[in-house]
Amino acid sequence: MRSVEQVLRDWEVVIGLEVHCELTTLNSKMFCGCALQHGAEPNTNVCPVCLGLPGALPVPNKAAVESIVLAGLATNCEIEKRTMFYRKGYFYPDMSKNFQTTQGPVAFCMRGWLDLELDGAGAAERADVEKDRDGSYTTRIAITRIHMEEDAAKMIHVGGTDGRIAGADHSLIDYNRCGAPLTELVTEPDLRTPAEARRFMQKLRQIYLTLGISDCSMEAGSMRCDGNISLRRRGETALGTKTELKNLNSFKSLHDGLAYEIVRQAQVLEEGGTVKQETRHWDITRKRTVVMRTKETADDYRLFPEPDLAPYDLSDEFIDSVRAKLPELPETKKARYQADLGLPSHDALLMADDAMLGAFFEETVAIAGVRQARAVANLLLNDLAALLNASDEVEASTEDARITPAALAALVGLIDDGTISSGQGKQVFATLVREGGDAQAVVEAEGMRQVSDADAIETVVDQVLAGNPDKVAQYRDGKKGLKGFFVGQAMRAMRGQGNPKVINEVLDRRLEG
Ligand code: ADP
Ligand code: ZN
Ligand code: MG
Repeated sequence: MRSVEQVLRDWEVVIGLEVHCELTTLNSKMFCGCALQHGAEPNTNVCPVCLGLPGALPVPNKAAVESIVLAGLATNCEIEKRTMFYRKGYFYPDMSKNFQTTQGPVAFCMRGWLDLELDGAGAAERADVEKDRDGSYTTRIAITRIHMEEDAAKMIHVGGTDGRIAGADHSLIDYNRCGAPLTELVTEPDLRTPAEARRFMQKLRQIYLTLGISDCSMEAGSMRCDGNISLRRRGETALGTKTELKNLNSFKSLHDGLAYEIVRQAQVLEEGGTVKQETRHWDITRKRTVVMRTKETADDYRLFPEPDLAPYDLSDEFIDSVRAKLPELPETKKARYQADLGLPSHDALLMADDAMLGAFFEETVAIAGVRQARAVANLLLNDLAALLNASDEVEASTEDARITPAALAALVGLIDDGTISSGQGKQVFATLVREGGDAQAVVEAEGMRQVSDADAIETVVDQVLAGNPDKVAQYRDGKKGLKGFFVGQAMRAMRGQGNPKVINEVLDRRLEG
């Protein structure tokens, strides 16, 4: 099989995402008072409305409308004041009403956009855009709409091998999730690489988390994404036939599933075949996509205006009151980290994009002082990431770190005042992340102390130079790179406890003098 990079030379990839997000932080369902409670005993949070019993009347959840308007404002959408709900025909046991209540052509949020910044390996996937000197680029992705709908029940298929209905003996249904408020965001087909799709999803997730409208767990399915993808020859403007990918329940699956589909479609097209419009399942163990079903057209669903719900007429006051609740979004936060705290662009982006890490960072800087912001950021972005390197989603694992902002602030203070070296600081950091506790206590327990005393260091440096007369001669002949060797030898002699700054100063005096 060819690589994605090879395919991208001849073909342009077109991707559009549909992102469902369950509003898990609300108290009750979309059209009834049943509790939204993750992990509750099955079928305990149900009532005539969400089960669709005859005569039951839905009442819309105002807090859910507030949440979706927040989502729209945060993604540059226009808020439509006049919208209404429809019944979408749907016959399957997980929706006992036999229709899903959803929005029609006009949704609460329309015509938005997000700017994506791509850098590093993600930026390298795309060759057809102009890039900055550091190889990064920014691209704007249009959002068609975000509409409000309700979730279906959860089905558990028993007896099969992989939890899917095929091969199962019987199925269980839990209606607790039925009628839960669900938003669906649809993008225009503006994404051009798997990396852009992944970045969009990451950015959207961080925005939703910042808004506090959902726990956005891709693992638990409260945030899920379908990827629509097609290819066309470079230079062509008409869209090719797309396939829709399901089961992209992690950032890695989203990226890898799309990458696989790119190569598969290219092969079909290059062999003279045609891509069939169908829904495919990303099989994470076999690392390929398999057909689930051929695509229904929109007509198959039929939308009927919902007679039991009055059309909306949102007031300016309501929209303004929601706007007033908008928290600082990752993009604004990034700019603030750069301007006020002196972080480089890439660090500011990573920090602002991770709500939990950002909050931890700010708490630490509030204690340690702005002057220490970069030192704090370095430990959090480089060392913490390396320590927790288990998943591609830093945030989930940040929770496991046992270090506190106060301990980290104390640690950077000990490095700054020369009590310990930065190398020792990294060790202390690792201990604090693993075990928690107090920086000073760890330093004492491990017997760490940085020797900054110039006399002691001069003695060691003189020994090192006396023991390597040939290298000293080479250095004086212009082989300046040997300085690192002398520093290393002195450091070793001091068992890592020498202050590198003082060692360097002493070396400069001795070698140049
Ligand atoms: P459907 O009717 O199949 O649901 P929509 O027109 O509603 O299709 O679009 C669903 C998603 O698919 C949107 O994100 C849209 O941007 C994307 N999309 C539409 N056509 C294409 C295409 N040819 N290639 C890739 N993505 C597409
Ligand atoms: Zn109910
Ligand atoms: Mg559609």
